[in-house]
Amino acid sequence: MNRNVLKIGCILTACAMLISGCKAKKSSDSFFAMNTYMTFTVYGGESEEIIAEAEERAAALEKIWSVTDKNSEIYKINNSSGAPVAVSDETIELIEFSLEMSAETGGAFDPTIYPVLTSWGFTAGENKVPSEEELSEALKKTGCANIDISGNHVTADNGAMLDFGGAAKGFTGDILTEFLRSRGVSSALLDIGGNIQAIGTKLDGSLWKIGLRNPFSEGILGTLEISDTAVVTSGNYERFFVDSDGRIYGHIIDPKTGYPVDNGLMSVTVIGGEGKVCDVLSTALFVMGRDKAIDFYQSNGDFDMILVTADKEIYITSGISDSFTLNEELEGMRISLIE
Ligand code: AMP
Ligand code: MG
Repeated sequence: MNRNVLKIGCILTACAMLISGCKAKKSSDSFFAMNTYMTFTVYGGESEEIIAEAEERAAALEKIWSVTDKNSEIYKINNSSGAPVAVSDETIELIEFSLEMSAETGGAFDPTIYPVLTSWGFTAGENKVPSEEELSEALKKTGCANIDISGNHVTADNGAMLDFGGAAKGFTGDILTEFLRSRGVSSALLDIGGNIQAIGTKLDGSLWKIGLRNPFSEGILGTLEISDTAVVTSGNYERFFVDSDGRIYGHIIDPKTGYPVDNGLMSVTVIGGEGKVCDVLSTALFVMGRDKAIDFYQSNGDFDMILVTADKEIYITSGISDSFTLNEELEGMRISLIE
């Protein structure tokens, strides 16, 4: 081949590489795991392979944490009749963290609430209002004191059962974020059934703009602009049933009464560095109600939050008030700042 032709060929290839190098690849994929849709968006050269691996990791975590899969570690603990069960490091971490957070939130977050959830039919999908006797029997089985950890063995005494519906997605978000970072990803958005975990900023350096769901109807409450942050929302509007009198019962239970939370809050969004903390807190603050949630924030405030009440008020902490924009169609809603 003529030397000049070879030279021109090399120059053209280099130019093509330069151009494609400037325009980094974006990959996005949705799949179903942990009873919800997850959508991962990743920028960078190997983004497709990295997403495929992240999906495998999420599916593997579902396999060990599912409450219904008979082969899961949680199922084995829940059905061991008080015998110690050997579990993985991830499960020990999840349980230890949840027990700590249960203590920190004064029991508002309770990973042993499963027997009560079952009596309301939330686990089988056949909802019903339980009798007082059934509820008090179920409540007797709850309590973190029934869970014992020794090395990698977990024991659930007195009929206690674990359920991480209120924490596992946030925990998964942290594990996947760590994995993506270890693979050199510096720009990604993970949507884990509405739990958002942002890595870095968008490729052009601008913030990720995410929509917060309107708890009253379809559509969004507003948008938040974030980077390197987790955003998690809890609300009884996500999963509920209505009895013959039209009363609404939601899937977040007040562990003190065994009844679905009904305290005038519609939703709680928690914004912070770690998905697991945001996930646990969004559930716990929802249980606490507006006033106790504000007190908790003021004494533990290493996070931000947005509370939406049934009387259409929005309470927002000062750390994120500038990042939040209310949906124009909802301008009647009152916004109060929490310092
Ligand atoms: P989330 O959407 O993160 O607030 O989690 C709600 C899920 O957590 C429910 O569907 C139950 O599986 C579980 N759950 C309900 N009430 C509680 C509670 N008080 N503490 C911990 N988990 C709960
Ligand atoms: Mg939660």
